[in-house]
Amino acid sequence: MVKTADVVIIGGGAIGTSILYHLTAKGMRNVVLLEKGLLCAGSTGDSAAIMRQHYSNEVSIRLVKKSLEIFQHFPDVFGTAVLHNVGWYFLVPPEAADLFHENMVQLKRLGVRTSAVSLEDAAEALPGLNLEGIGCVAFEPESGYVDPHGMASAFAAKAKSSGAEVYLQTPARDIKLSNGRVAAVVTDQGEIRTPVVVNAAGPWAKAVGQWVGLDLPLEVTRESEVVARIPADIPPLRHSVSNMVDRSYWRPERHGMLLVGVGHPKENELADPDHYSRDVSRDFVEDVSRRLSHRLPAMEDAVFVKGWSGLYTVTPDWNMILDKSPDVDGLYLAVGGSGHSFKISPAIGLCMAELIVDGAASTVDITPLEGARFTENTQLSSTYGGNRA
Ligand SMILES: Cc1cc2nc3c(=O)[nH]c(=O)nc-3n(C[C@H](O)[C@H](O)[C@H](O)COP(=O)(O)OP(=O)(O)OC[C@H]3O[C@@H](n4cnc5c(N)ncnc54)[C@H](O)[C@@H]3O)c2cc1C
Repeated sequence: MVKTADVVIIGGGAIGTSILYHLTAKGMRNVVLLEKGLLCAGSTGDSAAIMRQHYSNEVSIRLVKKSLEIFQHFPDVFGTAVLHNVGWYFLVPPEAADLFHENMVQLKRLGVRTSAVSLEDAAEALPGLNLEGIGCVAFEPESGYVDPHGMASAFAAKAKSSGAEVYLQTPARDIKLSNGRVAAVVTDQGEIRTPVVVNAAGPWAKAVGQWVGLDLPLEVTRESEVVARIPADIPPLRHSVSNMVDRSYWRPERHGMLLVGVGHPKENELADPDHYSRDVSRDFVEDVSRRLSHRLPAMEDAVFVKGWSGLYTVTPDWNMILDKSPDVDGLYLAVGGSGHSFKISPAIGLCMAELIVDGAASTVDITPLEGARFTENTQLSSTYGGNRA
C-alpha cells in the first residue's frame, strides 16, 4: 500500500468513484480510494438507479442535467454504455397540478427536455395503466435508469489507468489530524499520509465524521425494493415510472422483470448500517403489490421473485452536503445521498474535483449544498415535499 497520497477518498460507491475519476481527469495522479468492501457495497449497489430530471430546486436540476450529459457520453469516454434510455413518466395527482406546472416551467427554463402529456398518451405508452386519480403526467424522453455497478467500476478502472490506487476490502479506521488539519488516514495495512481526505462513506459517513469530532446531520433509513416477473400475456412495461399518486415507482429489470419500490412521503425506518435486515418484510411485499396492481391491474398476478433492503443516508432537507469542512482543514464532505443522489453522482464527482483542485466548483454552483445551511436556516425546500427534491 502507498505511504502518501495527495487525496484519500473513503468510500467506493457512486460518489467516491465519481470523485476519484474526476480528480484524475483533472490531472491528479497520486489519488487513493479506500473501500471497506467491494465497489458498490453500500447504497449504490442496492439502488433502483432511476434517472429522471424532474427536480424542484435549481442546483439539483443543474446537477442532473450535467450528469445526464456524462451518462450519454459514457460509451465514448469509458467504452461502455450505462444509461438505459427507456424514458421516464411521472404520474401526479390533481391536487399537485399547480405545483407540477410551475415546476415544468422551471425545468424547461433550465433546459430539461420534458413535456406534459395527456392521460390518453400516457395510457398508450404504459399499457394497462389505471388512469383513476391521475391529474397530470410528465414524460422525459432522455431519462430511464442506469447500471450502478457499470458506472462505478468504469469510473474506478479509468482512474486506475491514470495512476490512481483503489484498495478494496480495506476499511479506513481513523483520520489523524495535525494542528487541526488532516494528516493521515489509518488502515490495517498502515497509514497513508495525505493533506486531503474526502468523506464519501455513504451510510457510514456520520461515523467517519465522528473520528474528527464532527456531528454530521445524517440519519440512516432502511428502504426495500422487490423485483416482479411481468406476466407473459401482458405487453412489456418498457419505461421508468415515478407514481406520486400511489407513492410507488417502477422500472424495467432484465429478463422481463419489473423493479418496484414505495415512494415518499412515508415513515422513515431508522437503521444501524452495521446491523439491519437486508430482507424484505411480508408487509412490504403486500403493500407494494397492492400499490402496483392498483395502478397496473394486470400485475395483480405478478410473481415477486426477489427483494432486498438497502440504506438511505438522509440529511434534514433530503439533499446532499457537498462541502469543504469548515472545522477540519483538508477534509471534504460528499455525504447524505438521501435516496436520490445516484443519478447526480457524475456531476457531483466533477464538482467535488473542482472544489478540491480549483477551490470552487465551476460546472455547477454547489454552494446551496454547503453544510452551513442547516445552522443558517437556508435549507433547500422541495416543491412536492418528502424526498422528491
Ligand atoms: C433501495 C434504494 C433505492 C434507490 N433508488 C435510487 C434511484 O432510483 N435513483 C437515485 O438517483 N438514487 C437512488 N437511491 C439513492 C442512491 O443509491 C444513493 O444516494 C447513492 O448510491 C449514494 O452513494 P454513496 O457513494 O454516497 O454511498 P454508498 O454507495 O453507500 O457508498 C459508500 C461506500 O463507502 C464504503 N465505506 C463506508 N465506510 C468506510 C470506511 N470506513 N472505509 C472504507 N470504505 C467505507 C461503503 O462500504 C460503501 O461502499 C436509492 C438508494 C436505495 C438504498
